[in-house]
Amino acid sequence: MKHIKVEKVSKHYKGDGVETRALSDVDVKFTKGEFVSIMGPSGSGKSTLLSIVGTLDQQTSGKLYFDEKLINNLGLDDLADIRFNNIGFVFQQFQLLQTLTALENVLIPLFNRTIHFNKKERAIELLNLVGLSDKLNSFPSQLSGGQQQRVAIARALIAHPDWILADEPTGNLDTQTGNTIFELLQQLNREKKCGVIFVTHDPLLAEKASRVIEMKDGSIIKDREGRSV
Ligand code: ADP
Ligand code: MG
Repeated sequence: MKHIKVEKVSKHYKGDGVETRALSDVDVKFTKGEFVSIMGPSGSGKSTLLSIVGTLDQQTSGKLYFDEKLINNLGLDDLADIRFNNIGFVFQQFQLLQTLTALENVLIPLFNRTIHFNKKERAIELLNLVGLSDKLNSFPSQLSGGQQQRVAIARALIAHPDWILADEPTGNLDTQTGNTIFELLQQLNREKKCGVIFVTHDPLLAEKASRVIEMKDGSIIKDREGRSV
């Protein structure tokens, strides 16, 4: 999947008679291989946009295209397949299962999937890639925050995605650890040609992307080159 296109996408939430406009008529296009940061104050719609782009959530109106294909009307099973084959997710809270080892956590997305590679070999290879070859059998509680996020990144890569969508992946980490996680995402972008969409509060990290998108009140207010174009 080379392109993700968002066309006039809005998302409204209704509750207690109050309507929240999380996104208003957002237009944006992402191309595989880009490293894009999304910045903006809390509540500006960053997570909502990322969830819609990743088909985890649905817009109230507007269109989402993967390459030339309109995604809006697909059923949940088709969406799950497209997601599995194209997109890896990384979250602020790591989202690891506490009762599973690092290796087992990396294998989670393959549960119930028919695939054409050796699952365990692939998981071990990815844990090597993220620098955790000696932690295969450790549980999340035995790992530091940075190590847990590395497990989550290995998990995101298990099905060879074209895209990694990361929602504040450094938000729970100290500055130095956050930098190393950012560098790992940069490395994946460089070496595996993954498109990375990276939501962050940290302007210093955001500027290191090739493209910086700034959001405010549910709109994109700036879309410009970053320092590493
Ligand atoms: P950000 O990630 O930039 O902090 P969000 O996308 O999480 O922003 O939220 C955008 C707006 O939508 C906020 O005003 C938030 O309160 C609201 N919002 C997000 N999710 C929900 C929800 N499930 N129900 C109601 N309002 C929501
Ligand atoms: Mg958010």
